[in-house]
Formats: sequence, structure tokens, C-alpha cells
Amino acid sequence: MAGHVFSTRGQTPCSKIRLTRGLSPCSKKGLSPVQKIGVWAVLVLLLAALAAGYGCTPEKAEGVNIVATIFPAYDFVRELTRGIPGVSVRLMLPPGTESHTFDPSVSDALAVSDCSLLVYAGGDADAWAEKILRSDAMAGKPAAALCDAVSNMLMIEGEDEDDPHVWTSPVNVIAIAEFLRDKIAPLLPDDAAVNTLNANCAAFVADLRALDNDFRTLAASLPAEKRVLAFGDRYPFRYFCAEYGLTAYAVFPGCAEESEPAAADVKRVVDVIRERGLDTVFYVELSNHRIADAIARETGCGTACLHSCHNLSRADFDAGETYLSLMRRNLDVLSALAG
Ligand SMILES: [Zn+2]
Repeated sequence: MAGHVFSTRGQTPCSKIRLTRGLSPCSKKGLSPVQKIGVWAVLVLLLAALAAGYGCTPEKAEGVNIVATIFPAYDFVRELTRGIPGVSVRLMLPPGTESHTFDPSVSDALAVSDCSLLVYAGGDADAWAEKILRSDAMAGKPAAALCDAVSNMLMIEGEDEDDPHVWTSPVNVIAIAEFLRDKIAPLLPDDAAVNTLNANCAAFVADLRALDNDFRTLAASLPAEKRVLAFGDRYPFRYFCAEYGLTAYAVFPGCAEESEPAAADVKRVVDVIRERGLDTVFYVELSNHRIADAIARETGCGTACLHSCHNLSRADFDAGETYLSLMRRNLDVLSALAG
């Protein structure tokens, strides 16, 4: 594969992808997937029955409780609902945790029993959301997938599926913010809350437009030979690179791979670094950057993290980092390429 050729096609709702996909890889160990779902469902029912039997069935929580599977979903809802009384947002994926192989627990399922809305990414980005969506606790509750907000899904080359990492393009996040605003508005109790939601959305969209403009200006300032990014890691940046006219070479075609990369794909990244005189090979957050380090040793280039916002470290979470702040961090990293 000579780099990644970005192709677009019509919208394929992530909910369709979700229904055809298997469970996360970690569920393949031990019990079969079907067995594991069965055991898991029984445990949920058992705990709920025990709670009811002891008269401690939780009262339906006051207010609006939104559960998000992964960080981008959490952060966008947090931006939209900022300052609205009675709205809580819960992130299911613990900070610092690898997002693809996370395996939701029984208590994670129970946590959605009083949720007003579940927000998830869709596809491989959080395939484990299937478990939550199929749980009794979610019966009749609304759910929203981020990639259902995006009209032009991109395909992962060589794999017959859409790339779910739609949020890596700030332009897509504008559509996602408006999509989520329309999902949240009916849940709110009064006009004042809806007005705050609308104002939050407008402010977030303005920040996203400024971010988009800054990335666009930076990309335009790069000489043609530098509009190439080399990744010695997973590749969740398909939408980002397509948005800003950047060509990417990566050792994996997508993001969910766990095995060793093909030697030919590593060689192609090494070759493009040498041919283009690239200064940097990128890795993604929460990576051991072992492959990027090896490529750096081989080529003499440096390494840098480009943050896909899939999840963030506990330290970044505790420091209050957001999608916007992490993407601005990326802007700084990429600005160094222009220097
Ligand atoms: Zn991913």
C-alpha cells in the first residue's frame, strides 16, 4: 500500500457497523464470547434482583445523567452541558486505560441503569459498547454514536469497514456537537437549561472553528514535501489528515491492531522518512512507542506524540485537559515541522 489514499463514501451509521462486529479481543480469552455475554448478563440480573430484594433499589437519580464510553464523547458532552444544573456526565473508560481492549464490568452496566443518554463512538473505537447497549439496564434508553453525526465516513484501506475515529477532525466535531446538542435538549427540564445548552454549543463551535482555522493555516504553510506524516504506531488520524491535505504513512492501517506490523509497512515508513527528509516519526498517546523508537534509531529522526484524544492519561485528566487543549498541543507539535 503506497501510503494511505483517502476515499470518501456515503454515510454508514455506526450502529450498523456495531451490529456486525465481534467482541473486543480480550473477550476471546477463556470463555467464548457467547458464554461470556451469558455469564455477564446473569450477573447483571442477579445483582439487580439482590438490590431489589434488599429494598435498596436505587431511586431514579434526580436530573439528567449522561454516560459516555470514551473521552471524546465525555468531553463533548461536558462542553455542551457546562453550567447546567442537574446534569451529570460520567466517563466509563478510566483515564490511562487502553480504549480498544477495555472490558466493561458488571458495575459499569449497572451504572447505566439510571442514565438518561449513552454516548459512544461506534465501530472499533469502543466495540465493547456493544455489551452496554445490549444490557437490560439500557433497555429503552436513548443512545447516540459520534460517527452517526458525520456524513462522509472514510474507509480503512485494505479493511472492509469505516474508520470510526471521526473526532480527529475538528470539522467533524462541529457536526458532532450540534448532533449531541439536539440529543440532549429534549432531556432538559426547562428553557433556561436549553438556552445554556445552545450557548455552550455556539461557544464550543466557535472554538472548534478557530482550531480548524489554525490547523488549516499551519498545513498551508508547510512546503509540499513536508505535508507528509510518518506514524510508527496505530493510525487513528485518517479524518485529521484528510481534512488538512496531509498524506500519512503508518505501520498499521488503522487503530485497533495489536499484533506486530508487517515488515513491508515498517520499511515503507522508514523509506518515506529518508526520501522526504522527515524530522519526526509520530506515536499516539498511551503507547509504549516501541516501534516509533526503533524507526527513529534506524533513520536518525526524532519522535513525538500526536494525541488522538482516544483517551488521556490520569495526569492529563486530573489537570482538566480537554479535546481543545489536547488538539492545541498537537498544533504545537506540528508547528515544529514548519520551523
Ligand atoms: Zn482507535
